[in-house]
Amino acid sequence: MEKHRVFSSPSTLDIPEMSITEWVFQGLALREDRPVFTEVNTGREITGCEAMRDIRALAGGLVALGLKKGDVVAVMAPNSIDFFVLFHAVAMAGGTLTMANPSYTPEELAYQLKQSCARMIFVDDAFMENAQQAVQGTDVQQIVAIGAAETGVLAMTEVIGPPLDHQVPVDLREDIAVIAFSSGTTGLPKGVMLTHRNIVANAAQWCQARGIGPDDTAPCFLPFFHIFGLVLCQMVYPASGAHQHLMQRFDLEKYLQVAQDSGAQRLWVVPPIAIALAKNPLVDRFDLSAVKEIGCGAAPLSHEIGDSIRNRLGCSFLQGFGMTEVSGVSHSHLKGGAKPDTLGTPVANTSCRIVDPDTQDDLGPDQPGELWIKGPSVMKGYLNDPGATAETIAEGGWLRTGDIATVDADGHLRIVDRLKEMIKVKGFPVAPAEVEAALIAHPDILEAAVFGIPDQEKGEVPMALIVTPKGAALDLTTVQEHLAGRLARYKIVQALEVVEAIPKAASGKILRRVLRKQYSSG
Ligand code: AMP
Repeated sequence: MEKHRVFSSPSTLDIPEMSITEWVFQGLALREDRPVFTEVNTGREITGCEAMRDIRALAGGLVALGLKKGDVVAVMAPNSIDFFVLFHAVAMAGGTLTMANPSYTPEELAYQLKQSCARMIFVDDAFMENAQQAVQGTDVQQIVAIGAAETGVLAMTEVIGPPLDHQVPVDLREDIAVIAFSSGTTGLPKGVMLTHRNIVANAAQWCQARGIGPDDTAPCFLPFFHIFGLVLCQMVYPASGAHQHLMQRFDLEKYLQVAQDSGAQRLWVVPPIAIALAKNPLVDRFDLSAVKEIGCGAAPLSHEIGDSIRNRLGCSFLQGFGMTEVSGVSHSHLKGGAKPDTLGTPVANTSCRIVDPDTQDDLGPDQPGELWIKGPSVMKGYLNDPGATAETIAEGGWLRTGDIATVDADGHLRIVDRLKEMIKVKGFPVAPAEVEAALIAHPDILEAAVFGIPDQEKGEVPMALIVTPKGAALDLTTVQEHLAGRLARYKIVQALEVVEAIPKAASGKILRRVLRKQYSSG
């Protein structure tokens, strides 16, 4: 008997005992000679049969190149058919993939390569210079170019060997398919270890909740390097035998055009795009009558935006909740979507608790507390960080999310606040500790505190308080210039205040939540 006050999923599911690639191949087989992906910018297409052929061929090529079971392969590239093929080829060859945001600076990429002990990196040509700089002093032995190869760099098309006709045997519950990076509740970004089982479980839970099928088609811009795009676009859609129109980067007009022309039945968005769908006049120029459902996640969004979209487009609009540490989504709406103003109920085989962060007591319906989650998609742990893993996964396998939530009497979730430090810029996580480290690299910054403040378009943006030596005058532009070479653009602070001292608790911890509240209300 569970001794806690648990809110359980209304549904159960038999999770297939398969690797991520074996599971997706079932859907690719459904599409045989029809396209699984169409690249919007190049017109390139790949059918289900071609995708399976290319995945097997690249998996064989990786083995011939020396990839051993458990070796880590990094990728730094925008969405493309090649990225999808690589994702599954690495898994089929028994390797582990770690995905870097293409906007990373060489320093940020080097950090991820070192943390993950990557041995190879696949890079889109546009980021080759950054990658070549980043691999210095790491374990990377091989750089491979996605697209046309630069002189001296091996091209992905040259990675060849006898095709693999089977999955390299893996322990589904132990072997890591993906290392995704997230800062968790505190500190610097950490490698989130997701097993084959974790990812297949989440993709299967998602399929059950939404019922996507071979007739589905959708524009796809969610980045493959983030957990939302990784599981939805590289697992759920292809495994359902569905068709996606790949966009390398988001452009509202092009997106609406693709949604209209392809007759998309579902759209998957993050809050800034939901806001555009609710408010942007461009939307009226397109016929989106085929769209019956829009799903949104990755960051908070007001109910009013959801209402505006429902009224404007006449379709269902549902938000879900998820995080990297649960391999994607933990709360979603079952078909039909009762209480669309909530984030739904736990996905199949998943439970949650609401726990008082101070006393650790379980709370009942409508009482706000920290959201804890348990289920087959909860990560194995943080890579090489047993301390952070133990702090995050409590006894009994309960994952502490660092989010403050309520669950109502019917089990529907609402997020009301964030306990953890993470800032979410356009749905992308930013670790304050990483921005603070980059700030204090400036000779005139003695101390820094970074936290999120609300932004109409991006949801949140980072703000910094800094302490400078007497007489040193630093303004926002100078600080932004200093950060520009060190951090990806979305992490750069958008507001700055020079203060005498950083507000801290007696323990020395920066009072980030207090600062966030103080500077959000003003
Ligand atoms: P990530 O690991 O980048 O997916 O970030 C996960 C975090 O994003 C969660 O712990 C929440 O803080 C936030 N988040 C995700 N979905 C939602 C949502 N629907 N509403 C509010 N916050 C969300």
